[in-house]
Amino acid sequence: MNAEKAIVVGSGIAGLSTALRLVRRGYEVEILEKNSIPGGRMSLIEKDGFKFDTGPTFFSMSYEFKELAKDLDIELPFDLLELDPLYTVWYDQPGKRYTIYKDLEKLAKEFEEVEPGFKEKMKAYLESTAKLYNDTESLIIKKNFNSFTDYATTLMKVPMGHLPKLFRTFWKEVSRYFDSNDVREIVSLVSFFLGGTPFDTPSVFTMLSYTEFVYDGYYNVNGGMYRIVEGFVEILEANGVKIHYNTDITSVERNGRDIKTVIDSKGKKWTAGVFVINADAALFRGEVLGRRKFSEEKLDKKRWTMAPFSMYLGINKKLPELKMHNYFLRGNFKEYANSIYTSQASLEQAYYYVNVVSRLNTDAAPEGNESLYILCPVPDLRFKPDWSDKEEIADSIIDDLSRRTGYDLKNSIVSKTILSPVDWKDSFNLYRGSGLGLGHNMMQMGWFRPSNRDEKYENLFYAGSSTVPGTGVPMAIISSKLVSERIEKRYGSVLKDLHPGK
Ligand SMILES: Cc1cc2nc3c(=O)[nH]c(=O)nc-3n(C[C@H](O)[C@H](O)[C@H](O)COP(=O)(O)OP(=O)(O)OC[C@H]3O[C@@H](n4cnc5c(N)ncnc54)[C@H](O)[C@@H]3O)c2cc1C
Repeated sequence: MNAEKAIVVGSGIAGLSTALRLVRRGYEVEILEKNSIPGGRMSLIEKDGFKFDTGPTFFSMSYEFKELAKDLDIELPFDLLELDPLYTVWYDQPGKRYTIYKDLEKLAKEFEEVEPGFKEKMKAYLESTAKLYNDTESLIIKKNFNSFTDYATTLMKVPMGHLPKLFRTFWKEVSRYFDSNDVREIVSLVSFFLGGTPFDTPSVFTMLSYTEFVYDGYYNVNGGMYRIVEGFVEILEANGVKIHYNTDITSVERNGRDIKTVIDSKGKKWTAGVFVINADAALFRGEVLGRRKFSEEKLDKKRWTMAPFSMYLGINKKLPELKMHNYFLRGNFKEYANSIYTSQASLEQAYYYVNVVSRLNTDAAPEGNESLYILCPVPDLRFKPDWSDKEEIADSIIDDLSRRTGYDLKNSIVSKTILSPVDWKDSFNLYRGSGLGLGHNMMQMGWFRPSNRDEKYENLFYAGSSTVPGTGVPMAIISSKLVSERIEKRYGSVLKDLHPGK
């Protein structure tokens, strides 16, 4: 091993899991984090006796966590809880609600009236998504590419039958199987989880329907999502990793083709042999490294995932009518989805997601109370720079939710926190407040996504949403695997047994 010390800039889920893999490979690791707590977007708000997961509330591909545990040769420091049902979808018509199950028989019952023959259609759809997933997962998603030729020749190994999917949208693909708009909308909701819409997400991502409905489903963590962060930090600390909080990296010092130090906003220099940047891979290249290819002008032209508008409410009563994960849709799906990328989005007609945090995680609210997390996809700061109207937007969503559920929420709120895209941007250095980093169109995937290996500095690497393979919690875990493979290949490793933490 010729570089024993590694610095990871950022303690998001990709940063923490990269640090774990590097410690396992014998590296001495330090983490530098701009905020005062770890976790990045997977954060925690504790206020007025309530607790809320700040960003992710559930995830798919739980086997990526298991792969991580296997790689580290330890048990996961938290318990995975499979969601059943997966979620509930509310339309804006009295009583019109669908419960979404992984079990095909139960799911078919939900849709038998609106989509005759649903079961057979869904089977055919899922078969096609399974093929796509199996033909691409290890070949493309979990692979590092070293050149365009490498990427192109790998793509050529994907069976030709999938080729048309490169040129269709998610919506078009789903529409080939289903006639009902309700089914099309619900099956394509997963594209919002990627921070896009069914109308701009390539249909190759229909493979996520396979992970959603067949291969894995969705998971929560006993005690809330922040248990993942706490568990990882416990293991890191037990293995001597120090996390330096309130340390914002603003520049670097080079030494030929290597980075010598990263420098924080107070001027302190941090030295190591290897650096992994968990801050946004595109923004860091532009803002900190000053690369012209990633200038503000160039970044603004890229496709960014939509911005979050989120609310965390403490409610002084129980809300049994709401399920744990709820989507509130209405009749303007396409117009709303398309308007999220313009300043025209009518937020009085918002689509939103509601998570009753305290349903599973009972210590998230005092007895008889409920912790409510509401998330609404909105335009980023390029399209709507001014969010001084955030209280009014929040009120209109709360009014809508009250009307649709029959609860007088306004008069039951005892704690309220609102995060607009400005807050998200400032808290986690998210470009223009984009919630999930770079989007996933064909020109921002695979070889075309900012690489996890720096173009210029040989000891500089990246992990997280805006590098490969993409965004979301499981992808962050895969990105830690891909980057540690690169580092191990270049600098070697000496496998070390990890202390399992508490
Ligand atoms: C509202 C919302 C809801 C979501 N819901 C889900 C969900 O339900 N399921 C799912 O799978 N995914 C979800 N996601 C996506 C998921 O949260 C992210 O993909 C994932 O958490 C990103 O992890 P990361 O490590 O790549 O980045 P981050 O979590 O952003 O971590 C990067 C870290 O780097 C730090 N940092 C940045 N710049 C610097 C600097 N210059 N110096 C030092 N530190 C720096 C940041 O403070 C941060 O801690 C959601 C995202 C959002 C915003």
